[in-house]
Amino acid sequence: MLSYQHLYHAGNAADVHKHAALALALDYLTRKPKPLTYLETHAGRGLYDLDAPEAVKTGEAAQGIARLRGGFPKDHPYLKALNAQPDRLYPGSPAIARALLRPEDKLHLAELHPQEYDALRSNLRDPRVTSYKQDGLALAQSLCPPTPRRGLMLVDPSYEIKADYAALPKWLAAITRKWNVGVVMIWYPILTSGAQAPMLRALQGDHTDALTHEVRFPPARDGHRMIGSGLFIVNPPYGLGPDLKRLSALFRAL
Ligand code: SAM
Repeated sequence: MLSYQHLYHAGNAADVHKHAALALALDYLTRKPKPLTYLETHAGRGLYDLDAPEAVKTGEAAQGIARLRGGFPKDHPYLKALNAQPDRLYPGSPAIARALLRPEDKLHLAELHPQEYDALRSNLRDPRVTSYKQDGLALAQSLCPPTPRRGLMLVDPSYEIKADYAALPKWLAAITRKWNVGVVMIWYPILTSGAQAPMLRALQGDHTDALTHEVRFPPARDGHRMIGSGLFIVNPPYGLGPDLKRLSALFRAL
């Protein structure tokens, strides 16, 4: 049974890191006048009401987007996606992609939790979007290589099932064999326990040209085990590395 609900965490510092990097990568990819595919293995509900009791209870958005938003340059693509919503509504990754993609692009979104899936369907009504209530990692294997072949896949598990860490390197090796041109972004938490480290070492060993980008931030509350956010990016668009370095500076101010 899935118990993770992203509404408790939407707009936290890890979301800001992941979503700002996603927006930058999509901005690069959409500069070429060729259609692309956006795939998401763990989509969530797409839009999050930061006034909802769940979000207010943890206060994570107050420590994340509320503190970091002012540090982004006015022309940053992440701000474009944020500004497409009222301030109260935080756009999850599918809504960020929807805001930045073009009419000719396609989105494929997997979400397994029935309630989150229903919310995703109603929040992301768009002819470019196909949503799937199924396991995202299996779906990705069946869709790759996608049509159009150019594109980006975001992999954003909740790591509720600890086996996710062990499964991802093998899963990614199979994806990149079938889809060697795709940009694949895997998000992972940086935990006090270091539970993410063996997975990262395995990914880095298999994909020596990939980009790893990490930011650190104070734990959301005393005893909270997440102290940073990481992205492992296969086939990063040219220029993304320096942009991510600028993003690091924003987090250092936290
Ligand atoms: N990517 C979203 C964003 O940034 O806005 C947040 C996603 S949240 C971290 C992870 C989501 O994955 C949850 O909504 C959870 O219900 C869903 N999920 C868990 N296991 C899944 C699976 N095997 N396949 C697809 N979705 C799954």
